[in-house]
Amino acid sequence: MLEWLYIRPDALQVWHDPIVVRALSWYRDVMLNRMPAKFLIAKHVESPEDPASLSLDELWRLHDRLASEFRELWSRIRGGEIRLEQLSKPKHSFLDVKAEIAWRLIRRCVLCERRCMIDRTRGGRSICLLDDKAYVHSWFLHMGEEAPLVPSGTIFYGGCNFKCVFCQNYDISQLDVRGGEPVSPRRLAEIQAELRGRGARNINHVGGEPTPSLHVILSSLKYLDVNVPQLWNSNFYMSEEAMKLLVDVVDIWLPDFKYGNNKCAQRLSGIPRYMEVVTRNLVEASRHGDMLIRHLVLPSHLECCTKPVLRWIAGNLPREKILVNIMDQYRPEHLVARYPWRWPDIARRPRVGEIAEAYRYAEKLGLNYRQVSL
Ligand code: SF4
Repeated sequence: MLEWLYIRPDALQVWHDPIVVRALSWYRDVMLNRMPAKFLIAKHVESPEDPASLSLDELWRLHDRLASEFRELWSRIRGGEIRLEQLSKPKHSFLDVKAEIAWRLIRRCVLCERRCMIDRTRGGRSICLLDDKAYVHSWFLHMGEEAPLVPSGTIFYGGCNFKCVFCQNYDISQLDVRGGEPVSPRRLAEIQAELRGRGARNINHVGGEPTPSLHVILSSLKYLDVNVPQLWNSNFYMSEEAMKLLVDVVDIWLPDFKYGNNKCAQRLSGIPRYMEVVTRNLVEASRHGDMLIRHLVLPSHLECCTKPVLRWIAGNLPREKILVNIMDQYRPEHLVARYPWRWPDIARRPRVGEIAEAYRYAEKLGLNYRQVSL
């Protein structure tokens, strides 16, 4: 029996909401197989040269040229002018170029804005604690994500570039990072195909953080011939290079916009330049695909984080195209649970009044918040 049959009622009802339909139109079309996912389109854009034979500089030049061709083709496919089946598959494609670049980048790793520049192919490990492999800790049909996403074919990768003191997934993000299955690109493609076959509305790349595993994820798409939306569920601390690789393969973005200032980001996640990097990536992502932004309300952080985050979204992103999920489920975990006196501000659940104030503020700003239920 198909797992589709166990879908939550609100996961069906949500598509009667015109705001959701408008904001997630591309994702929905791919989900319903009315349109091909972007990675399938990228496979049909021909690379005139074997990417393996090119230098990194040459690869980037080729990438940027093919990106223009891809966007032209994407637009024609969206407009119904052309169908993917009418096109032949080239020997080398835009997707091959992207995967090749990603593997080169981990030799002096700049996948995220930590920009460690260590050679991960030689076993070097940095903040994310990863070598050159992607470690899958679990994968399954997730029924607890936002209504438009479930059942979500969720893949949890080990490792993270953040060090959040309250992390709920700290076992795979910070402790036993390499305890999962080291997956080859082919194996990762098989996992994705199986999830779609079992009724997944999307492939939800998450962790930990998926960014350090980008090279394996992009390579896996070369072996995946099943149509399924690619969902990027991330802290959004990708480098500009990683963003360039991602924008033509991600169908729906699920950014976790945590902090409204750099001081809180440094103190609670050990991350520098948070606002500059994350807002830059949010603007870029909003130009390339649908987006549902998550914000977890931290206790005592309404004025310094929640309100600035909501203000920034309202002032800088196309409001009618963006859904915002204001999440109320914070609880002290990981280091905060063990040493609550070190972070007394977040050593409790948020109060009902704090959550209500966050909703009121989003309402005042005219955001489409909580249009998506959890
Ligand atoms: S993914 Fe980020 S944290 Fe990990 S090695 Fe690369 S640059 Fe460093």
